[in-house]
Amino acid sequence: MSEAIERPSGGAPPAWEYASAPESTDVVRLEDRYGLFIGGEFVEPKSGRWYPTISPSTEETLAEVAEADAADVARAVDAARDAAPAWQRLAPAERAKYVFRIARQLQERARELAVLESMNGGKPIKESRDLDVPLAAAHFFYYAGWADKLEYAFPGRGTPEPVGVAGQIIPWNFPLLMAAWKLAPALAAGNTAVLKPAETTPLTALLLAQVIQEAELPPGVVNVVTGAGETGAALVDASVDKIAFTGSTEVGKAIRRATAGSGKRLSLELGGKAANIVFEDAPLDQAVEGVINGIFFNQGHVCCAGSRLLVQEPVFDVLLAKLKDRLQTLRVGDPLDKNTDVGAINSKAQLDKIEELVESGVDEGAEIYQPECELPERGFWFRPTLFTGVVQSHRIAREEIFGPVLSILTFRTPDEAIEKANNTPYGLSAGVWTEKGSRILHMAQRLRAGVVWANTFNRFDPTSPFGGYKESGFGREGGLHGLEPYLSFDGNHR
Ligand code: NDP
Repeated sequence: MSEAIERPSGGAPPAWEYASAPESTDVVRLEDRYGLFIGGEFVEPKSGRWYPTISPSTEETLAEVAEADAADVARAVDAARDAAPAWQRLAPAERAKYVFRIARQLQERARELAVLESMNGGKPIKESRDLDVPLAAAHFFYYAGWADKLEYAFPGRGTPEPVGVAGQIIPWNFPLLMAAWKLAPALAAGNTAVLKPAETTPLTALLLAQVIQEAELPPGVVNVVTGAGETGAALVDASVDKIAFTGSTEVGKAIRRATAGSGKRLSLELGGKAANIVFEDAPLDQAVEGVINGIFFNQGHVCCAGSRLLVQEPVFDVLLAKLKDRLQTLRVGDPLDKNTDVGAINSKAQLDKIEELVESGVDEGAEIYQPECELPERGFWFRPTLFTGVVQSHRIAREEIFGPVLSILTFRTPDEAIEKANNTPYGLSAGVWTEKGSRILHMAQRLRAGVVWANTFNRFDPTSPFGGYKESGFGREGGLHGLEPYLSFDGNHR
């Protein structure tokens, strides 16, 4: 039997000492340089430009990656256009086999992908191992199953046809998973694609390109162009039939302006400022875990993060004490350590942005709390942070921080909670913690959010649609809803 843990009365819980348990990087074979994946091959960029991609936890260069210019992007789009007719004509059951093959290969190479994701992006290995990679494979499995059932998927809508060539632009917070969210439905529906990973996290998308090569997808069906924002802008301007974008609201707006009147289809999955609402009757220990997971999962680099905590006044003191205790036990550090809860901030630019917003919170009068924890000397790090005394006008209550920072507000009545939760230009997600089922339904109907979780947070499943309202974008990914943007019905391509 284990001995009872002694707690100093009224103080913080005892710190749990863990021996480090680093995951080996031997499974990853990095190349010095990665070209663009066009027409089924890795090719040198016409631009002649390359850039280093680093590990945000060590600041070491991992590899050099090609920087695609507009000519490179046009070449990738041409390859996708050339590959489209044969891919579309393929019997749907045959197309499904390719998509299933990608899913199985992702499972086979799961460890390599997880380690590489943590090396390049900074997220804890337990997250890339247990969430990013399995969920990416699950998306390919799920959409592979639809490939030969498209006629039955949307009854009464007419004959489904692929849209054509999809340009897909993804962010750095879930690099492999976002690639899967984009590619799996596009391929299952018979489209070809050009994928643009984020500048800071190209490596798992390039490993996915290798998987696609090994799965013997016809050349040109999937193309991957790496580079910075200009590469993304070139893809938006290229001759594609659809743009699917996940990223900041600012860039989403620019893309909407750029595609207006072009006839290109568009779906936007943008930022968020989700409210996680805890009622006085909620199971508080469970809520604490949900609140912690809601904001500190993936260092808070999550568009649907529960970054505003709304607590009903009678339980504010007790919940805050529990949250502070729990914060002390979070282990911040090496993403490859299996014990790590909070890894590295994805880039210096993102760290600067978090620091600036946190400073604004202090300047505007909110009270900051950070646990004592040692941060590694090299790399980009930020302590898990709570703010109390936050009012709705504070920047930290309004703007997406995209870091491990929680702004705590209080409320008295359900109506006040709804009003505060909806008082944001965003509308991506929300959480409700209460014992009462009827209250959950009451809240869910009134919260202007694409996803509302009840007594849980950050749950994802390939069968469930995900997406936002207002400045969080439009269109859905996941489930049948995520298949629809890649199909047209009875020749209506727009
Ligand atoms: P961006 O929106 O700039 O990046 C998302 C993707 O779009 C990246 O692949 C990026 O390339 C590309 N891109 C950048 N500019 C353009 C453009 N003009 N046209 C087409 N594509 C473009 O996000 P950032 O990485 O700059 O992060 C800034 C902030 O955005 C974060 O602090 C966070 O608040 C928010 N964000 C929200 C995300 C979400 O899921 N809702 C995801 C990521 C960020 P490149 O990486 O090379 O710049």
